[in-house]
Amino acid sequence: MKKITLLGSTGSIGTQTLEVIDFLEDYKIHALSCGKNIALLIKQIEKYKPERVCTSDYEDAKIIKEKFPKLDVLHSGEGLVEIAKDKQNDITLVATSGKVGLKPTLAAIENKIDIALANKETLVMAGDIVMKKARENGVKILPVDSEHSAIFQCLADKNNPPYKLIITASGGPFLNKTREQMQNSNALDALKHPRWHMGRKITIDSATLMNKGLEVIEAHHLFNMDYNDIKVVIHPQSLVHSFVEFIDGSMLAQVGFPSMHIPIQYALTYPKRLKGIKTDGFNLWGQTMSFEKPDFEKFRCLKLAYEAGKEGSSATVVLNAANEVAVNDFLSGKIHFLDIEKTVYKALEEHNTIKDISLDDIFELDREVRKKYSI
Ligand code: MG
Repeated sequence: MKKITLLGSTGSIGTQTLEVIDFLEDYKIHALSCGKNIALLIKQIEKYKPERVCTSDYEDAKIIKEKFPKLDVLHSGEGLVEIAKDKQNDITLVATSGKVGLKPTLAAIENKIDIALANKETLVMAGDIVMKKARENGVKILPVDSEHSAIFQCLADKNNPPYKLIITASGGPFLNKTREQMQNSNALDALKHPRWHMGRKITIDSATLMNKGLEVIEAHHLFNMDYNDIKVVIHPQSLVHSFVEFIDGSMLAQVGFPSMHIPIQYALTYPKRLKGIKTDGFNLWGQTMSFEKPDFEKFRCLKLAYEAGKEGSSATVVLNAANEVAVNDFLSGKIHFLDIEKTVYKALEEHNTIKDISLDDIFELDREVRKKYSI
C-alpha cells in the first residue's frame, strides 16, 4: 500500500490525481490540502478518509474540525509543511499553484519523501536549491507536468544520457493570430485553450507561451541540461508530449491521448506501469501530427524565459513573479494581452542578477517584484 499526500486536492491536477487513485489498487490518500474550495474538500474527506487535512485559512480549518472531530486538521503554510513532510507518507504530490508549494516541497525532501511535482514555481523559483537538496537526500523528483513526464519516460534507459530535449507546445489559442489580434484579445479569448482544460493562470501562460518558457526552465533543472540543448517545437495536436534526442541522432517520443491522468499515474506508479484510467483509451487511426518552429518574435515571453533561464538564479524568480502579477492584471482587465510580456521584460531589464540567491532572499525578491509591477 502506497500512501499519498496530495497538496492542492481541489484544483485541476488534484481532482485528476484522485481519479487516478480511484482506479489504482494499493494506493491510499494519507493527507489532503486545499486553498478555498472547502465544499469540495469536505466531499473528498468523506470519500478518501485521510488521516490529516490542511486548509489555507484558520476559519476553514475550524469548520472542517467541527464536521470531522477525529480528523487531524491543520492550516496555513506551516500546516502545509507539516503534512508534506509527514513520514507516514510515501509520496507528496505537489499540485498547489504558486509559490506556496516551495517550502513544503523542501521540507518533504529533507525528510526523504519522494516528490511528485506538478507545481512549476518550485523549480522556476528555486531549482538550484531544490535539486541540490533532492540529490543530497536521495529523493526522487517525479515530474507530473506532461512534457517533463514524457522526457522522464524517454530517459528510462539510464545508460544513455540525453543529447537534446525537445519540448512540445500546442501553441495555445493564439498560434494563428497576429500580434495585433493578440493585443486586442480579452481574457475570454485567451482562456479558450484548444487542447487542454486547465486552471486560469496556466491557460493564459499557454496563450503567451510563457508556460513553455517555464517548462524549459523546469527541464533545465530536472534533467540537468544546458539551455542551448533544450528546444521547443510547436505541435498543435498535443499527441507527442515531448522528445529526447540521443547522440546517435535517434529520437524517442512519448505519445498518448492529451490527458493529465497518464503523467500523474506514471509519477505515482514509477518505475512500474499499471493498468489505469486511460488504458485502451487512445486510437491512432485518423490522427495526424504536425510540427513547426516557434516564432520567438511573436511570442516574446518564450524568448524572455530562455534569457532569464540562461541568466539563472534570481532572474527566473523575477520572470515568474512579474509574469504572475501581469497575468492577474490581464485577467482582471487592467492591462492588454501584450502588456504581459512588456511587464516581464521591464522587470528583467531593471533587475541586477543576484548569484547563489538564498531561499529567504528568493521570497523577499518575489514579494518586491510583485509589489513593484502589479497595477
Ligand atoms: Mg505542460
